[in-house]
Amino acid sequence: MRLRALAPVLAGALSLAGCASTTANVAGPASLPVAPAASPALAPTAPPRLVVAIAVDQFSADLFAQYRQHFSGGLARLMRGAVFPSAFQSHAATETCPGHSTILTGAHPSRTGIIANNWFDLGLTRAEKRVYCAEDETDPGSTSRDPVVSAGHLRVPTLGEYLKRANPRSRNVAISAKDRAVMMMGGQAIDEAYWYKGGAFVTLKGRPLAPAAVAENAEMGARIASGAPAFAAPDWCAARGETVSAGKAGLVGAGRFALAPGDADAFRSSPRMDAATLDLAAKLIDQMQLGQGSAPDILSISLSATDYIGHATGNEGMEMCVQMAELDRALGAFFAKLDAEGQDYVVMLTADHGGLDLPERLDEQALPRAVRVDPALTPGELGKAIGTQLGLTLDGPLVYGDAPFGDLYVTRELPAGPRAKAIAALVARLRAHPQVAAVFTADELAKSPAPTGNPQDWTLHERARASFAPARSGDVVVLLDRAVVPIVTAAPGYVATHGSAWDYDRRVPLLFWRKGLPGFEQPAPVETVDIAPSLAALLRLKVPEGSFDGRCLDLDGAAGNTCDARD
Ligand SMILES: [Zn+2]
Repeated sequence: MRLRALAPVLAGALSLAGCASTTANVAGPASLPVAPAASPALAPTAPPRLVVAIAVDQFSADLFAQYRQHFSGGLARLMRGAVFPSAFQSHAATETCPGHSTILTGAHPSRTGIIANNWFDLGLTRAEKRVYCAEDETDPGSTSRDPVVSAGHLRVPTLGEYLKRANPRSRNVAISAKDRAVMMMGGQAIDEAYWYKGGAFVTLKGRPLAPAAVAENAEMGARIASGAPAFAAPDWCAARGETVSAGKAGLVGAGRFALAPGDADAFRSSPRMDAATLDLAAKLIDQMQLGQGSAPDILSISLSATDYIGHATGNEGMEMCVQMAELDRALGAFFAKLDAEGQDYVVMLTADHGGLDLPERLDEQALPRAVRVDPALTPGELGKAIGTQLGLTLDGPLVYGDAPFGDLYVTRELPAGPRAKAIAALVARLRAHPQVAAVFTADELAKSPAPTGNPQDWTLHERARASFAPARSGDVVVLLDRAVVPIVTAAPGYVATHGSAWDYDRRVPLLFWRKGLPGFEQPAPVETVDIAPSLAALLRLKVPEGSFDGRCLDLDGAAGNTCDARD
């Protein structure tokens, strides 16, 4: 790639002050002149030196809409940039791994190959047929639940990998509490990669911890060991706090995250996890001098606490309200640090999927149709029922699947004829179930073209097609009805979830901010696959034609056009 020399003037008078300070630590063709105080300031036209790509796990467009009026920190700053309140993770399988795989590849899961968090490979030689999206299952030490972490299943490059191909001096760094978020945003050519495991940040097999991670682990370890009092709730959370009974999880709705000494899991499921992740990000920026090199760097940060809290306590209680306040505060402190260093950076913030509250509270809050899924729809129960119906006796399961929705696989131990009969019986049984919205076979999905147009209007078939990857997807794909929560029984840490083809799980906010870039809000639907082409254009990064499923979004709300950079 070529860095573009500064364009002398942008069309239109842009009245944003302060872009002069973007010169603080850049040199050569990327620098901007210091604008005289009285003259109109310019929107930045040179590529930013640092891309900060943030995914807030399970941060639905609904949460953003509910809480945006209260933000005063980092999220408030991003709301002064380019705001797309209706971005779509357009595909049907709205899980963490597929969602993160779209964000920096610009490709739907049908092309990233990341169809779900877990899928089944019935041809695997190891005993376990379940494959985790971010594992190297060829490593004998790997299992789907305790994986040897790898981005090997990702079939397309990430933005960081495109950057490094264009200029090997670009650094590609990714961190999160979750290994899969790190791998899907970073990809395989990754300079530093960290995720949380058992109370510490860890990295890829065989790699040493960077000094920044060692330092963060010492600080975080001390915080976990000492425990901490509950967070104070802002006034605007006062209306929350009504408790609701969620099965074996007991009462939820009034928690404020008091931390018992030594409880590393509770630390992870609290706002403290996001703060620690951002602390590590800041330390890596300092150690690696990210944003100060001769080529642009990319730092991907996936903040997982919103998701852990959503799963543990739903998204309409005191817990999520406190989390929204703390997320906003932690992001504000992080951006303030970048400002103090004079970094020339662009921020993109979005989510990997949305989420739905727990049905027990939805029932009290005007959505009585929300229910927990019928246990008869779990893969094990389906397999037993089909086996009985067809008189089949097998050593292993007849139907494999990770959850009571999504991809289902029929055993390869059956000969072709009986196997086809079993698939047909499975489809018929699912289609007859009142909680099932749609059922598609792999053949049906393989035959249909990749969907285009407004993702809000896609049919269920089109949503499922965007999640379909040959040789990895199930023989049958099941989509549950709206507001059917695919958790049979609430348990501690797991009362509510996401993963459906409905818009409460597909619709997420998308925000871009860069100092001096005129802001705007565009309510029309966009897609998370638009992020990579938009950032690539901002970076003047050339990628091969056809690399992206999405389109470039012009992030300049005034006359300038960030998709139209000439060099
Ligand atoms: Zn997630």
